[in-house]
Amino acid sequence: MELAQRKRILLFPLPLQGHINPMLQLANILHLKGFSITVIHTTFNSLDPSRFPHFTFHSISDGLSAAEASTKDVIALLSLLDVKCVAPFQECLARLLSDDGEEPVACLISDAILHFTSAVAKCFELPRMVLRTGGVSSFLAFAAFPVLQQKGYLLDQDSRLQELVPELPPLRVKDLPLIKTNNPETLYQLVEDMVKEAKSSSGLIWNSFEELEKPALTTLVHDFPIPIFHVGPFHKYFPACSSSLMPHDQTCISWLDKQESNSVIYVSFGSIAAMSDKEYLEIALGLANSQHPFLWVIRPGMIHGSDWIESLPNDYLEMLDGRGHIVKWAPQQEVLAHRAVGAFWTHNGWNSTLESICEGIPMVCMPCFTDQMVNARYVTHVWRVGVQLENGLKRAQIQRVIKRVMVEKEGKEMKERAAHLKEMVSKCLQQGGSSYKSLESLVSYIISC
Ligand code: UDP
Repeated sequence: MELAQRKRILLFPLPLQGHINPMLQLANILHLKGFSITVIHTTFNSLDPSRFPHFTFHSISDGLSAAEASTKDVIALLSLLDVKCVAPFQECLARLLSDDGEEPVACLISDAILHFTSAVAKCFELPRMVLRTGGVSSFLAFAAFPVLQQKGYLLDQDSRLQELVPELPPLRVKDLPLIKTNNPETLYQLVEDMVKEAKSSSGLIWNSFEELEKPALTTLVHDFPIPIFHVGPFHKYFPACSSSLMPHDQTCISWLDKQESNSVIYVSFGSIAAMSDKEYLEIALGLANSQHPFLWVIRPGMIHGSDWIESLPNDYLEMLDGRGHIVKWAPQQEVLAHRAVGAFWTHNGWNSTLESICEGIPMVCMPCFTDQMVNARYVTHVWRVGVQLENGLKRAQIQRVIKRVMVEKEGKEMKERAAHLKEMVSKCLQQGGSSYKSLESLVSYIISC
């Protein structure tokens, strides 16, 4: 890969955990293929260069105030980043592109949500490729927002939640990728800009694989006539890369080592989702009553009004007598690959969904917002490797759903289908497989940029 060695790629991740991980994984893949890597990152959720000594890092000031950086309104945060990062990113590109000592820059790979990078890259005549860190199927739901808006599916949803959306089967109105925000118009604008600037980019890269999302990819290729590369699942190319913003608690692995095979339910709702203390208590009691061992990730601040787990009943963990293990952050990929894990209770972020599929683990789905809703619907109704918890969180219902996935025939069938998907993952990455070939095309394409 001599040619690649003489080219540098600039990567700009959105500074949220679920976006940083796949971008850094992609950086590792491209580095393995011989490219030099420069990562541009914001001061908000900044990255630790010492974990990636083989990359060059450039930090740009995003100018977020402490209050702005800690907002719970993700859409407000994203739209601020899309405004405040423009000038610092422009200055950074000017510096990087005028550096004679470095290899020539082939292209920028930007997170799709950082749509402003399109105009800036154009000023420098720099090819801009886009990494969309979610699935293809949910992206098509975002791309359909103008139609959905026109047909009234996005507003006044309450009376129509169960209605099927004929334009996006098998989605119902309640599965559309929305999120609670103070300003829905900002969300619509963000989605419109993301889709428009993805469409006008030099190429779209996906952390997905053909066999998983074939119909969606066919539609995408038709509607987005630009080079498309589906090279996922990224994290399977090498052992877990450490782009975690929080330290992994390794005690979960020694705890899992002591459990029986396929016996544990792993519970994690990703890096952003939060809940009320009422919901949290129902989860705690539902898990306790299920009689299954469980490993539960509770991030500090995840429960409204609590620092961590202080609102759990005093004797909760003692009462379980070692059957439950709670951590602040887990080495999730390692956990899902552990023989003791039998099911994953997840919020269905795309990374978590894909990581579960890669290990053949059936899911209890509890999507919270945006693409998670679409992912959950695909898990339950297309790939059929999970059950969705719906209509509020109640301990009895939780117990029932866990039983369906962990014990009943239905769960065993899900496990078989999940095992089949796992096999597909390993095939798509092998020489001649769909992701293998797509990666080869991506490398040749970048070399030719
Ligand atoms: N993750 C982790 N430890 C945890 C929980 C999550 O390392 O305890 C990782 C997980 O492996 C995934 C990412 O954080 O790569 C979460 O991304 P996802 O898209 O699932 O959800 P988000 O955090 O964006 O809602």
